[in-house]
Amino acid sequence: MPSKTSHHNDHGGGSLSTKFDAIVVGGGIVGCACAYYLSQSFQRVLVIEPGPIGGASTAAGMGHIVVMDDSPAQFALTYYSQQLWTGLVSQMPADCEYRPTGTMWVAADDEEFSHVEGKRKFYESNGVKAEVLSPAELAKAEPQLRDGLAGGLRIPSDSVIYPVTAAGWLLSEAKRNGAELIQGKRATKMGQRSVHLEDGTQFEADFVINAAGGHAPLLTPGLPIEPRKGHLVITDRYPGFVHHQLIELGYLKSAHEMSSESVAFNAQPRATGQILLGSSRQFVGWNSEVDRKLVTKMVNRAAEYLPGIQQLSGIRIWTGFRATTPNKLPIIGAMPEDPSLLIAAGHEGLGITTSLATGKLIADWASGSKSVIDPAPYIPGGHHEH
Ligand SMILES: Cc1cc2nc3c(=O)[nH]c(=O)nc-3n(C[C@H](O)[C@H](O)[C@H](O)COP(=O)(O)OP(=O)(O)OC[C@H]3O[C@@H](n4cnc5c(N)ncnc54)[C@H](O)[C@@H]3O)c2cc1C
Repeated sequence: MPSKTSHHNDHGGGSLSTKFDAIVVGGGIVGCACAYYLSQSFQRVLVIEPGPIGGASTAAGMGHIVVMDDSPAQFALTYYSQQLWTGLVSQMPADCEYRPTGTMWVAADDEEFSHVEGKRKFYESNGVKAEVLSPAELAKAEPQLRDGLAGGLRIPSDSVIYPVTAAGWLLSEAKRNGAELIQGKRATKMGQRSVHLEDGTQFEADFVINAAGGHAPLLTPGLPIEPRKGHLVITDRYPGFVHHQLIELGYLKSAHEMSSESVAFNAQPRATGQILLGSSRQFVGWNSEVDRKLVTKMVNRAAEYLPGIQQLSGIRIWTGFRATTPNKLPIIGAMPEDPSLLIAAGHEGLGITTSLATGKLIADWASGSKSVIDPAPYIPGGHHEH
């Protein structure tokens, strides 16, 4: 097993070696997080990214770091990752725009509110602070919400970052540890301890990590990952309009409806004073065109909760793709038939949150260390049984 101290570091020499300890294919936030943790245990780490760092799904995402209670495995991964993010806050540069906004889950009616106490108990019994808010308390905390809502659940430890700069920062920290980057070239083949690039170059490594997001199946055929399109709208600057990341309690239902298109109310205050509005989900392949009808539906949904949103100017709309798996968990770990090929992909709508835990699990595997959480639920091959 290679270790940080057992290798000669030739990064200062200018020429790129062809043999690495680990090669990460994909410079989204997940690949950058893998490089960040791998570079703490290994001297020779290489990242390959054809485009800008964090320029794909990472740039399209909302940057909400959120602990989710959808399943025990999802909770374990999101909670662990959130703790890792919290541990890094003091080192993160200001342009990562980390903000401890908390999440406010909003209950529209009594039926939704009836689930709030159960959620609170789950969070609290697992170490996450959670507060139930009455309609009056909710209105006080978020005055722009409409009257007549049934209440809310506040998770104060959730937060928000700007994913593109966060990815860039993780990679720059990895580079400080000696990691190298090849940018502008695509990998065409990986596995059996090697990565081939489109220009014919080939690199060898003890571990190769497929962190190509929604494109991971092109490099590792058979991975059960499909693109799921989402739209976001960002407004002009309205500082103080909302304070928490606001999400309707019905959001999980939208995330679960695998066959149809769906929208859910999700609003985020950015550090700039802008409001980022989501979210939609559709299976339409890689078609990135803006679907105006769906955007209207999404904004109308937001207006059902925040009537004043219709008076704000939206300045940009974009689409992005979540890498979806059948059991809604990312795929993290070694391929059974090739233990040197590690997968770190399929993070759906939670990859900003879970990037750090993913990177840590990958680095733990590669360095033979025991992980803090059980890695079993995420390993490749477990995805059809769920
Ligand atoms: C609308 C929307 C809202 C979201 N909101 C949130 C949120 O609030 N919180 C949250 O936690 N998550 C959110 N997400 C999810 C999050 O954005 C993703 O899960 C995360 O960005 C995935 O990161 P990644 O590094 O796996 O993928 P990507 O960012 O897509 O990175 C993969 C990289 O691999 C590269 N690549 C592809 N093919 C190759 C190849 N052949 N060779 C080399 N490199 C290759 C690509 O160029 C790309 O840069 C949201 C997503 C969307 C679409």
